[in-house]
Parts: sequence; C-alpha cells; structure tokens
Amino acid sequence: MEKLTYGSWFDYEDTFETDNASKGALNVLKWAYETYKDELVYACSFGVESMVMIDLITQIYPKAKVVFLDTGLHFKQTYTLIDEVKLRYPQLRIKMKKPALTVDEQAEKYGEKLWERQPDRCCYMRKIVPLQEELKHATAWLSGLRREQSPERSETKFINKDENFKSIKVCPLIYWSWVDIWDYVKKHQLPYNFLHDQGYPSIGCVPCTSPGDTKTGSRSGRWKNQQKTECGLHRN
Ligand code: SF4
Repeated sequence: MEKLTYGSWFDYEDTFETDNASKGALNVLKWAYETYKDELVYACSFGVESMVMIDLITQIYPKAKVVFLDTGLHFKQTYTLIDEVKLRYPQLRIKMKKPALTVDEQAEKYGEKLWERQPDRCCYMRKIVPLQEELKHATAWLSGLRREQSPERSETKFINKDENFKSIKVCPLIYWSWVDIWDYVKKHQLPYNFLHDQGYPSIGCVPCTSPGDTKTGSRSGRWKNQQKTECGLHRN
C-alpha cells in the first residue's frame, strides 16, 4: 500500500487482516512502522490501553517515538508508571511534552482552576497545542482508541485522515474490548496504573478524572457533570 500522508489522502478503505490474535493490531503496526519509521509518533496517555500499545509496538520497533502530554496535572501514579515503562522498555524514546505555561502561570493569566470554568480552553493550551507542535515533525501518529469506548469513537478506522491535526492517525486497537485489554495485560504481566484498580477506567488530569464505568473502559469518569467527553485530540 502506498504511503498515506494528509496531503495525499484518497478515499481509502482499511484492508488489514483482523483474524490474528491481536485483532489486526500487529498487522497495522507492521505496516505503519515499515511505512513511516521515525515519521510516526505514538501519543501515549499511559492508560491501560497504552500498556498494550507499547508492548505491541516494541515487538516491531523497539526504539519507537512516544510523546506524553505532560500537562503538569497528572496523578503521581501516572509518573510512577512512566518510570516503570522506561525500565521495562529502555529503547523507547519517551518525550514528556509540556505546555507553554506552567499551571501557576496559567492561573496567573487566566484565573484559578480554568478547567472548571473553561475546560476546552484549558485542554487546548495544555494538550492540543503541545501535540500540534509535536506532530509538525511527524507524518502520522498512533493512538490507542477503541470503538467500544464511546459513541464518538465507534466509527474509528485503523487508518484515519485527521482533519484536526492535518495528519494521518493510526488506531490499531479499534476492535479490542476492555476484557481483551485486561487479558493481555495480565497474561504478559505488564505494568499498569493502579488507579484502574480503584475504579478509574480512564485516567487523565487529576481535576477532570473520577471513577467511572469499569465494565467497558468507557470515558464516563472524565469531566464528570460536564457535557465534555473528549479533550479535543480526537475530533474525527
Ligand atoms: S483534562 Fe482538565 S486539567 Fe487537563 S488539560 Fe483538560 S481541562 Fe485542563
């Protein structure tokens, strides 16, 4: 298959075989790393899907580029997990990408707890702009989205034209269920964030993350009591 770029996108249909143990994920990752190599970056949240992604990715390209959007508002358990991942996969190139303003500078300029008043603005400054900056150096990016997670994610394909970041977004785990994810993590004894054991299906910034529905790994615990369900990284 030819190399897809944002500028060369045609009306492409996914054609990857899905009948292997990884539900197509390894086939997609092989194609993606053969095609893009260091032009491919994995935007990693270090949630439990990320542990599967990292384990699969490193089977194919151990020195893969990974970016973590380090908003400065993550749980300490998330930073502990990142340290564990660095030890287990020493060749991975993990970049901790920070926003332009520290949390204190943001409070000074926009007022305290912007996430309570204008969460979209907060996510824009602390997540979207930093990822835009990273993706300027990449042709495509990887995400661990699963179709089961939410109605907004139910149509995700393996390879997507990403209008949001003017890029190609590759999503190998679209057919994985929450049970599949945990079966893999337990079978391979992967590290994971222990907040999952305390009822958090999806883990992001502390102020915007609560326990939620742990049956499907949905995003019900994110931005609880607000309309918002996505930080804006995945609009299409
Ligand atoms: S998840 Fe919450 S705290 Fe984190 S960047 Fe978005 S609004 Fe801000």
